[in-house]
Amino acid sequence: MSHKTVVVGGGVIGLSVAWRLARDHDVTLVDPTPARGASWVAGGMLAPVTEAWPGEEELLDLGGASLAQWPEFAADLGIDLQTSGTVVAAVDGADAAQLDIVADFLARQGRAVDRLSARELRRVEPVIGPGVRSGLLVPGDLAVDNRELLRRLTAAAYEAGVEFLREPVRAVGAGSVELAGGAVRCDLAVIAAGAWSSALHPGLTSAVRPVKGEILRLRARQGALPPPTHTIRALVESKPVYLVPRAGDELVVGATQYEAGFDDEVTAGGVRDLLTYAERVMPGIAEYGLTECSAGLRAGSRDNLPLIGELEPGVLVAAGHHRNGLLLAPITAAAVCAMAAGVAIPAVVRAAHPARLWQTTR
Ligand SMILES: Cc1cc2nc3c(=O)[nH]c(=O)nc-3n(C[C@H](O)[C@H](O)[C@H](O)COP(=O)(O)OP(=O)(O)OC[C@H]3O[C@@H](n4cnc5c(N)ncnc54)[C@H](O)[C@@H]3O)c2cc1C
Repeated sequence: MSHKTVVVGGGVIGLSVAWRLARDHDVTLVDPTPARGASWVAGGMLAPVTEAWPGEEELLDLGGASLAQWPEFAADLGIDLQTSGTVVAAVDGADAAQLDIVADFLARQGRAVDRLSARELRRVEPVIGPGVRSGLLVPGDLAVDNRELLRRLTAAAYEAGVEFLREPVRAVGAGSVELAGGAVRCDLAVIAAGAWSSALHPGLTSAVRPVKGEILRLRARQGALPPPTHTIRALVESKPVYLVPRAGDELVVGATQYEAGFDDEVTAGGVRDLLTYAERVMPGIAEYGLTECSAGLRAGSRDNLPLIGELEPGVLVAAGHHRNGLLLAPITAAAVCAMAAGVAIPAVVRAAHPARLWQTTR
């Protein structure tokens, strides 16, 4: 007989988990607004290397392992990946020094990247403006259209037999998930409610917090320079900004980062900052149409690693993916399936077990 499993939350993580689990489980996904959340807002980079920072080696290893699973994951969903890689640009001397730190760190991790002069950088990516001083070329990073991904995951989950319940969950315990109208009984519950996960189980108290991020969508108008062919990440006087090209002459520019609780309103200052930094990197952006400004809530954890593991028998968590939820979706879904089957998970995922946070939260 098939296991009755409830997945709480239908962002990229909950949808991926539900879709993959539905091969062996009878899955219900509960979310009042599935396929939205931070996943709808995100930039779409699958970029463990250009996210890397000294001290976050475990996150780099986890991201690298998930990146390796992305081609098969994407093929199963029939979605295209952008494979041209990332260029990283530095505007002033301090920004260039920061890139040197990252390049040295990556070299020590056995992930060498190419350092480029301003001229070499513009040869690779001609939209980059004269204010950029130097950069890096990172060939392995991928990108995906996050909204197309959510559409494909939703369709794949339906096709695999996942039942969708559009209601908020109040609490999750072993054997039952509490909704306003009563409890849903289950053999296994998976908490995948992103930034909202902490309220759902005592083992997650204070473990996940919302981290606000604003992002813009622009479109090249007639006569404007076409978008870059690579993802561009830049440091502009220590302020990070990225530009991710999409099909149809679209360009995604992100992202601000604030601790602002559950406030998800776009601010004028956030939009101004993103446009100012983006224009320093790619002056031609001033000719683009601004089609959307949005904000989302990343699920931050204290050490930037996600929380993937068992909270108590019959209750798993897959949350806290912060800036990397799209990147980490394949490995998270595979790990949840392994845990549900009682199979050992790889060491790179074991580092993300929530028990590491319990000494200080309990
Ligand atoms: C501006 C921005 C840019 C980003 N760019 C990238 C990027 O380029 N690459 C990358 O890998 N990541 C990126 N991220 C991070 C990424 O978006 C997140 O890590 C990822 O979306 C997390 O997915 P999730 O499914 O855990 O959470 P979410 O997508 O937030 O989904 C959580 C779901 O839980 C539901 N929910 C909440 N409470 C309840 C409840 N009580 N009951 C039932 N359901 C509930 C919500 O309705 C929602 O649908 C970005 C994030 C932001 C904000």
